[in-house]
Amino acid sequence: MSTERPALIDRFGRHVTYVRLSVTDRCDLRCVYCMAEDMAFLPRAQVLTLEEMARLGRCFTELGVTKLRVTGGEPLVRRDVMTLFEALGALPGLKELTLTTNGTQLPRFAKPLKAAGVNRINISLDSLRPERFRAITRKGHLEQVLAGIEAARAAGFDRIKLNSVVLKHRNHDEVSDLVAFAIARGLDISFIEEMPLGVIGDHDRAEAFYSSEQIRADLSKHLELIASAEHSGGPSRYWRVAGVDTRIGFISPQSHNFCGSCNRVRVTAEGRLLLCLGQEHSMDLRRVLRANPLDDEAVKRALIQSMAIKPEGHDFDLEAKPIIFRHMNATGG
Ligand code: SAM
Ligand code: SF4
Repeated sequence: MSTERPALIDRFGRHVTYVRLSVTDRCDLRCVYCMAEDMAFLPRAQVLTLEEMARLGRCFTELGVTKLRVTGGEPLVRRDVMTLFEALGALPGLKELTLTTNGTQLPRFAKPLKAAGVNRINISLDSLRPERFRAITRKGHLEQVLAGIEAARAAGFDRIKLNSVVLKHRNHDEVSDLVAFAIARGLDISFIEEMPLGVIGDHDRAEAFYSSEQIRADLSKHLELIASAEHSGGPSRYWRVAGVDTRIGFISPQSHNFCGSCNRVRVTAEGRLLLCLGQEHSMDLRRVLRANPLDDEAVKRALIQSMAIKPEGHDFDLEAKPIIFRHMNATGG
């Protein structure tokens, strides 16, 4: 099979060049929008081994995928996860290896991640106030994440981006402070609208919803935002502030349909290939991997076949009953 041109093209002509790989559903935090407090996690035998994940990375890149993002759950709590980064970092054909993390383990891992070939890193940070940070994450310590951000800066990644999920009455009044924090450190920042993934008993998503438009209006009171045509291969739309390096992104699944330019798929920690974040169309890659332990061509054929079921788009609705019962940690954010 040719490895020269993209082979993953769906029915709508979209080329899949970006894969988000969830390496665990477990996490050391319990963010209110992501997980229930008493989550049941997957039994280990159901989770792909790190070798199986590296094999998938190889198959995807041989089919033209150029960008891999490692996510979770919290990727850095998976035991021996550095072996996976080292294997992925060595893949020919891969242009970008990126990580999404809550930052708690970065003081330990920032340097080895950079050495393994991770180019860019996204760190979640919803509040700069310790008591609020703790309330949103249910168990996090802000100072640990701030130390993680400093460790990442010192390690010299190409770019570091903060991700903030904005919730009404929880942190919506902190968007200017978060931008000022990012500007002072030369970081990018994206504000994310909450997505209705999974039912979380003590959290009302419709009540907490705060739109990107509202955030931009709030920021515009303090800053002059300039719309930018830049993109990072993901769903963010970017704005800039004159004279500084920081990009301010908005990820607006509710208020802006970004499906037309979708170039990505996700693999859950169990090896389920999700063709769309907001739909259930999927393929069981764990079965394919385990049935064909020595035959990468069989895995690649399955990946190519999966393109026939990539849906045209999602259709999230916060007011309606959730149609997606997966939580974000199981999906791979
Ligand atoms: N644990 C890592 C972290 O928090 O960055 C990686 C996984 S986490 C699921 C990835 C991103 O998804 C985080 O930025 C998180 O804030 C976001 N997220 C989680 N649940 C969400 C939801 N329901 N809607 C929107 N974003 C969500
Ligand atoms: Fe953990 Fe990330 Fe989910 Fe927060 S958003 S609970 S850090 S997986």
